[in-house]
Order: sequence, then C-alpha cells, then structure tokens
Amino acid sequence: MLQVYSLASGSAGNCIYIKYGETSFLVDAGISYHRIKKAIASLGDSIDALQGVLITHDHSDHTRGVEGLLKKHTIPVYTTLATATVLYASSPCRERMTACVRTVDFGYSYDVGEVYFIPFPTPHDAAGSVGFRIVCPNGDTIGIATDVGCVTSQVAKGLTGCNVVILESNHDPDMLWTGPYPSHLKKRVASDVGHLSNQACGELLSTLIKTGTTDVALFHLSKENNTERIAMETVRCAIIGCGEDPDKVCIKIAKEKETVQVV
Ligand SMILES: [Zn+2]
Ligand SMILES: [Zn+2]
Repeated sequence: MLQVYSLASGSAGNCIYIKYGETSFLVDAGISYHRIKKAIASLGDSIDALQGVLITHDHSDHTRGVEGLLKKHTIPVYTTLATATVLYASSPCRERMTACVRTVDFGYSYDVGEVYFIPFPTPHDAAGSVGFRIVCPNGDTIGIATDVGCVTSQVAKGLTGCNVVILESNHDPDMLWTGPYPSHLKKRVASDVGHLSNQACGELLSTLIKTGTTDVALFHLSKENNTERIAMETVRCAIIGCGEDPDKVCIKIAKEKETVQVV
C-alpha cells in the first residue's frame, strides 16, 4: 500500500515521492518541474495528483523545483517559518508562494491526505532545517533525515520506530579530507551542522534496527567524497560493530539521477 521512491539524491538535487492509497506528495523538490513530472509519469502516476510538498530546508538542492511546481499546481508547501522566509525572499512570484506555504512547527502533526507528518529539528547550516516522521493509517512510518551534521537526540527520536528510514550517508572522512574540496568546505561538511558520515549513519541505523526499521535508503551520497561501495560497506560494518545484523534490513542506495524504490 505504501510506496516510497527517491527520484533524485545528492548535492545536485533531492526529491522523494511518497504514495499511500490515493495520497501522494513530495519531500523536497530540488530538481526541475520537468524532471519531477517525468519521474512520476514513469511510475505510471500523474503529477496532477500531488497533494503537497514538504520542504526540509532552504538549500537549492532541496528547493530548486518548488517555483516551477507552483506555477503549474496550487498545492500546499509545508515548511518551517525560517525556510519559508528564505523561499519568499527568493521567489519571483511571492504572492503565489505565500498563498501556498503552510508553516509547520517542530513536534506538531499535520495532515497530507490520509497520512500525517511530524517535523523534527535537524542540525544543519540552514535556519529551520527539519526532518520528517510520516505516519500512515496502517501503521507504516517513514523517517526522513537528510542533511544532518550529526545525530542529535531529536534526530534519533524522530526516526525511532520507523519501519522505513531515509538517512543521509554523505561522505567517507578519509576521502573528504584528502579530496578536492577547498579547506573551508571540508570543514563545513565535517562539522556538526554539515553532513553525516557513512560511519555515523551506520551507527544510528544499528540502533534503529532494534526499534523495527526494516527498509533503509542511504541518501545524499557525495559524488566527490564517497562511493556507493564504500558507503554500503562502511554502513554494514558499523552495524556489525554495534552488535547488530545488517541482513535484518534491506539497504538501498538513492541515486543522483535515477529513481530508486525504497519500498
Ligand atoms: Zn542537500
Ligand atoms: Zn543542505
């Protein structure tokens, strides 16, 4: 009944498509309207059926398609006031953006069609950055935390008990520090408000497995500072290192330009 797809992942653009019965919506719209429309159509669905878009934070790899989406569809954009303020400031059609935005607060729940979601704060260098815990009527629960510099108690709590988890596995620290990024960018990525390492991702997953997580997508892999093989191996080793069995969960890797079905 629940279907979750990563339509795009990484610093070039992020977009997640969630469908439950007649309910369908996006989490982030960091790719063009055309790409979103095409990706949804290739799944046999229509972009016309979307009932909303949840935005995690104001970085362009998560928001670049919002404007195009609102030009064609009058649908609610759920995000925090801090993120909305940035969207308003950069929008060439501020009135339309203002009319569509529904501001959300940490810890409260909001309905989209048949499901509800609860935003939780994420440590990232964007004001009002959030992750989402999305709950379906049949009990399926999806936790999304992308762009998280470190695992705070709020992030862990937001994902605990979710059977489906989409979690950042951004970089391998050795590749980051020896890689091509300028020094200030390396420090930013590695900081507590930057991006999550493969190891930290795996350690969090080991605790989530104990709370019922069965399906995972490793998200927002860095093109320069990670590879799919290193991310998967490190995450699996971290889970084993924490005394858990990685084979208890189905782990997939979200791709930059391809749709990946998470569940
Ligand atoms: Zn991002
Ligand atoms: Zn970001």
